[in-house]
Formats: sequence, structure tokens, C-alpha cells
Amino acid sequence: MSERSCLSFDPDLARLSSIYGKMRTLVIKVGSAVLTASDGGVSVKALSLIAGEVQKQRARGISVVIVSSGAVAAGRKTLSLGRKPLSLAMKQAAASVGQNRLMWSWEKALSRHKITAAQVLLSPYDVIERDRFTNLDRTFETLLSLGIVPVVNENDSVATQEIRFGDNDQLSAKVAAIVRADFLLILSDVSALFTADPRIDSSAKRVAYVPAVTSDIRKMAGISRSGLGTGGMSSKVLAASDGGSWGLPVGIVGGMKPRILDRFFLGKEGTLFDAKSIPQSSKKVWIGYFSRPSGDLVLDAGAVEAIKRRKTSLLLPGIVRTEGDFSKGDVVCLRSMDGQLVGKGITRLSSMDIRGNPVSGGIIVVHVNDLSLLDDQNDQKELRPC
Ligand code: GLU
Repeated sequence: MSERSCLSFDPDLARLSSIYGKMRTLVIKVGSAVLTASDGGVSVKALSLIAGEVQKQRARGISVVIVSSGAVAAGRKTLSLGRKPLSLAMKQAAASVGQNRLMWSWEKALSRHKITAAQVLLSPYDVIERDRFTNLDRTFETLLSLGIVPVVNENDSVATQEIRFGDNDQLSAKVAAIVRADFLLILSDVSALFTADPRIDSSAKRVAYVPAVTSDIRKMAGISRSGLGTGGMSSKVLAASDGGSWGLPVGIVGGMKPRILDRFFLGKEGTLFDAKSIPQSSKKVWIGYFSRPSGDLVLDAGAVEAIKRRKTSLLLPGIVRTEGDFSKGDVVCLRSMDGQLVGKGITRLSSMDIRGNPVSGGIIVVHVNDLSLLDDQNDQKELRPC
């Protein structure tokens, strides 16, 4: 697909208005650059602007979840650490100090609108492990049913280089999947996706609408980068790409202006990354994107055809062989005989059971409800190898 055909410089007003009209649950991700005042502390002004926007949506009956960065930045200020690079231990310490202040600032900003805030700090295993995922799902559901606004951040005080989400853009897309949000809006210091870096290239144009994140779009995202936070534009586009594959449209807009949600939904600012696929259930998103598969099932062409085109369950006779040792209830990758990833699913039989079973009858190995098929349209093969 050519670059031109996969983006538009004009906003898709009909689509924006349809998303706005149908929205029931909204996740707003707020980046460190938006929340940080010029002295390095938490910006009371920014928080109060965002709290006002949250209140407006709640008045329309929309549940809102905030994913807020800023713990490390707030801790840096309190500990007088400036902008110098920090060791892991110092970053964890800064986050421990800063998260408290950050949360207190949210409490104050939201309570002015009589909104109760709740802190939710997450580590990767909270979404990778099925039990923890369902537990988290229940927590969010209960908080939202009580009219509370969850304020989510990574649990940075225990995050390490290896065990961390990476950045809050990725985290916000995951949170949006867990709470079954209809929309994720990323408030950033970068006001949109541009064709070039607008700070150095005056010909840079705002891309207002991206129907699907393609490799061309990802290349373009590498061009304009934000200096603050861990994300940058490429990680926002990656979050939009993830969201797109599980049916979540994602918006990116500059976060520091009043009435920013109105401005975004009227198409005046920002970029809408659309999602073409039908929203998937959080269970299917968990299987397809968050779980850690324990092995592979290699399928014959008929089985691939059946699960992809006819949307059936995977039956035992369609399995050519297994790879790896896995138990009943584990997530496995489903591959075609040429090694292509077709999807992932929860197996009802262990690898030993499958190998030992005479290939006959219609024993279901992966039920259609436990199957998450790869979305070819969103280039996920490239991004999420099994
Ligand atoms: N969790 C980090 C913090 O609160 C921010 C990570 C990010 O901005 O992506 O400081």
C-alpha cells in the first residue's frame, strides 16, 4: 500500500462523530511532558485542565480511566535529581517518591469535580498471567461501577529493564483492552502524527486520519519524536497499531490546551488511528496479545481454512504435529505447515494427549471462543512474533 493511500490530511469528521457518539468507556493517557511543570514538578494547571475534561465526559455518562505518567518526573523534582540519567535503583526510588505526589495531585484535581480517584499500579505479569488478568478485570469493573476514576501507572518502583511494560503508551492500550474501552486518547506534547518533524521542517503536514497502521505509517512515526518521557511518536503508533488489531481506535493530540477533547473530536487537532476490525473480547485480546504461549500446534491446510474462513473450532484431526511441551489450559500458537502464524488459542488437550490420541472423531482441541486469530490487515506478524 502506498503511503498516500494509507493516510489522509483531512479529518474523517463522520468517523470522529460516530466514535464520540457511541463512546461509553474512554481511556485517557497523559504523558510526563504534559504533566510536568517548568520547574520539573507536577503541573497543577495541566491536571486541572484534564480533570475538567474528565468531568465533561462523565456528565455525558462516559466512564473514564486515566493512565498517568509522571511518577519519575515528580520524584526527580523532590529529590533534586535534575534531568541527569538515573541508575535503575535511583529511578525506582524516584518513582516511589513521585508516585505518591502524582497521585495526590490527581486526587486534588479530580476532587474539585467531586470525583473519587483510585490508584492502580501494574506490572507486566498482571496482564500476562490469566488469573491476575481476570482479577484486574474485576477490579476495574468494580471501580467503574462505583463511579470511580482509576488512575493507572506502571509500578515503576519494582520495574526493571527486563520486567516492565516499556512505556505508558503500550500500557494504556492494554488497559483500554481490559476495560473494553471504545476509545483511547493519548495526550502528548506531540500534537499529531506529521509527515516530518515540524520543529525542523516547515513543510511538515499533520496527518489527520490513519485508517490502519501500516509499515509506511510506522516509518513515518520514526521521523517525529518527542524529547520527554520514554515514548516518542513511534511508541504511540505502536500502541495505535496494537489497539487497531483488537478493534480499538486511538487518538493522539497535544495535551496542553483547554477543550482538547472537543478540538480532537471536531477534527481540529490530532491524529485518529482507526481500527477496522470488530472489537474483540478482552479474553481474545489476552490470548492473542498478552499471554505467553507454551508451544505450537502445526495445522494442515484444511484446518487453517476452517478456523480462518469458516470460523470453526480447531479439531484434533487437523493437527499435523505439536512442538514443545504444554498442558491442558495453556496458550499455544497455531501455525500453518509453512510455519506462518495463524493465531493463538487455549488448548483443551496437553501435548502428550495430542500426540497419544488416535486421529479420529471431532475432538475439539481449541474451541472457537478460546481462539484469537491474527489480524493480517494490521501487520501484526511483524510486531508480535509468537
Ligand atoms: N511510568 C513512568 C512514570 O510514571 C512513565 C513512563 C512513560 O512515560 O512512558 O514516570
